[in-house]
Amino acid sequence: MPASPPSWPWPRSPAQIQLLPPKRISSIRSYNVNDRQPACRQPYRGRLAPSPTGWLHLGHARTFWVAQARAQAQGGILVLRNEDLDSTRYRMEFAEAMFEDLKWFGFDWQEGPDCGGPFGPYAQSERRKFYVAALEQLRAAGWVYPCTCSRKDILNAARAPHAEDEREPIYPGTCRTRSAGQPEPGARSPAVSGPGDASRPAPGTRFNWRFRVPEGETISFVDGHYGAQHFVAGRDFGDFVVWRQVDEPSYQLACTVDDAAMQITEVVRGADLLPSTARQLLLYRALGWTPPQFYHCALTTDEAGVRLAKRHDALSLRRLREAGHAPVSLRAGW
Ligand SMILES: [Zn+2]
Repeated sequence: MPASPPSWPWPRSPAQIQLLPPKRISSIRSYNVNDRQPACRQPYRGRLAPSPTGWLHLGHARTFWVAQARAQAQGGILVLRNEDLDSTRYRMEFAEAMFEDLKWFGFDWQEGPDCGGPFGPYAQSERRKFYVAALEQLRAAGWVYPCTCSRKDILNAARAPHAEDEREPIYPGTCRTRSAGQPEPGARSPAVSGPGDASRPAPGTRFNWRFRVPEGETISFVDGHYGAQHFVAGRDFGDFVVWRQVDEPSYQLACTVDDAAMQITEVVRGADLLPSTARQLLLYRALGWTPPQFYHCALTTDEAGVRLAKRHDALSLRRLREAGHAPVSLRAGW
């Protein structure tokens, strides 16, 4: 169990204060995160963040192996975080298998749901109060607005025919103007208002909380593997969901809140999440937190060049183990 309660929020360092947005976000056109990060933050803290929504496969293992190697090379700490927020796809058997398969493959973490640590709990399903606090902070400062659009509304009104990533078209901003009475982003309202305030739709209405991105601003960061990255808010991604209508935080919010609260210094994950990093950097800035460094890994593909997914059952760690493969030989080409 945790040795001491997590500090939340921890005291702001000068570097964190610099990250607070100016009063009028529209006046900045470029946000280069690496200008604002300390050169070196010690001790190194990395994390593995699997989701128990299927069997872990070789692609996960490969990315996690890089994460573990980078933590070990720095003499750092590796955290295991169970990303079990997706209640529709979560299954207990996947969660149990996840720990077993990771151990079998040779992963060794120093903090996690099974061994505790000072920044617990380490399962996202137990961390709701952290996410609620972050949402309230974003709401009080005017960074988020309620969006009542359905998926179909967004597809019909999308401003560009191409998808910003595999799943989501760029949000056309339909509900953004409806919330014009909200405070300017970055301006602190005196107190978080209650459930009856004007910024919320009528009771019973289903809505998402969406983050208002600074239109046209370039978000730049240097990825540890891919080098300089640039994303333009409003062009490469639009206003994104931070709280889903099923009353759960989105991946973007939960991941940002947890990486910050667990004081992760470097996030190692798959290259498919590069565009998510730009969104998450905006959340770090809006919340006044220092972002970690990022290192994105190339995605593993099968023999036909198709990216490995949970449907590649034969390449799940579980099946590979049953088929008699040894982790050391599976890692031979890495
Ligand atoms: Zn909307």
